Amino acid sequence: MSIFGKQRVGEDPGKDPENARGGTYPGEYPENERSEKNGKGIPVVETIGGLREQLAVQRKSGKSIGLVPTMGALHAGHRSLIEKSAAENDITVVSIFVNPIQFGPNEDLDKYPKSFDADVSLCTEAGAGIIFHPTPSEMYPDGFSLYVDSDAMTDVMCGRSRPGHFRGVMTVVSKLFHIAAPDKAYFGEKDAQQLAIIQKMTRDLDFPVQIVGCPIVREADGLALSSRNTYLSDEERTAALCLYRALSLGKLLAASGERNPAEIVKAVTNAIGAEKLAHIDYVELLDAGRLCAISEQTSSVLLAVAAYFGSTRLIDNLTFEWCDRK
Ligand code: AMP
Repeated sequence: MSIFGKQRVGEDPGKDPENARGGTYPGEYPENERSEKNGKGIPVVETIGGLREQLAVQRKSGKSIGLVPTMGALHAGHRSLIEKSAAENDITVVSIFVNPIQFGPNEDLDKYPKSFDADVSLCTEAGAGIIFHPTPSEMYPDGFSLYVDSDAMTDVMCGRSRPGHFRGVMTVVSKLFHIAAPDKAYFGEKDAQQLAIIQKMTRDLDFPVQIVGCPIVREADGLALSSRNTYLSDEERTAALCLYRALSLGKLLAASGERNPAEIVKAVTNAIGAEKLAHIDYVELLDAGRLCAISEQTSSVLLAVAAYFGSTRLIDNLTFEWCDRK
C-alpha cells in the first residue's frame, strides 16, 4: 500500500482528509498545486510540477515507482495493470489523460467515455497511490511543437488506419516517463502494437524504465475489455464476439500445422466477415517482436484484428509460438 493511500490519512489524525482537499498536506502539496484529496483517500494531482514534487520526496526515501498510463473509463483490464504495479512497486502512479494528439480528426476524442469518480475508486481499491490527471493545456501548453515518432512498426496494423496515432502515443508516454521517472511502466497486450512500439522507443531513446506487458483481460465470453465497449448496442456486442472466435480459429489453424500466413489471415477474415455487423479494418499476422513479415527468425507471431461495429472500432489479438511448429 502506498503511503499516499488511505493508511496515510489514518496514520496521522492531525491530517484531516476533508481539509486535505486543495493540497493542504504541509510540506507535501505545494500551495500553488491543484492537488486534490478525494473522498476515497487517494490524491489526484493535476500539474506536472505537483507530481514531480511528490514523487521526488518518495524517490529520495528509496521508494520505487510504477506508472500505469491510461485514458480513464477504467475497467478490470486497467485494474490488472494497477494491481501488478502495486505488487511490484512502493508507489503506483496512474495517469488518467485522454490524450488529444493520438486521436485523428474523425475519431472519438469528444465522446471518449469518462467516469472519473468510479476511476478514482478503482485506482484506490487496486492499490494505486496517486492519480495524475492533467488538463490538455498542462500537457500541451501553447507553443508545444515537438513530437516523438518512429520509422519502424508504425506502418502496419493500427498505424496504417490511424495515421499519427502512434506519434501521439509515443509523445505522451515520453512526457509521462520524463515527468514521473518511473522504475517500471505497465502496458496491456490488448494494445499489442502500442506495447511493441513503447518497448522499442524505450530502448532506442534510452529511457531508464522497465516496460512490463500485461495479459489481455477478457469477459467470460471472450470479448476483450475495452473502454469503447460501452459504445456497443446489445446486437453489436454480441456480434463483436466474432473477433475472439476468429482469432482462436487462426491460432488453432497454426497449431494444427498451417504454415502459410496468408491462409490463416484468409480464414480469420472470412470468420469475421461472416458476421454482418462487423466491418473489418485489418487482419494481420506478423512477427510479434518486430511487427514485420514472418521470417526464419520469427519465434512468435501476433495475429491482430481491428473491426468496426457500427461506428465503434475494436481491436483484439493473440500471440502464439511459430517456430516450434514442425
Ligand atoms: P487505455 O485507457 O485504453 O489507453 O488503456 C490503458 C492501458 O490499459 C493500456 O496499456 C492498455 O493496453 C491497457 N488495457 C486496456 N484494455 C485492456 C485489457 N482488456 N486487458 C489488459 N490491458 C488492457
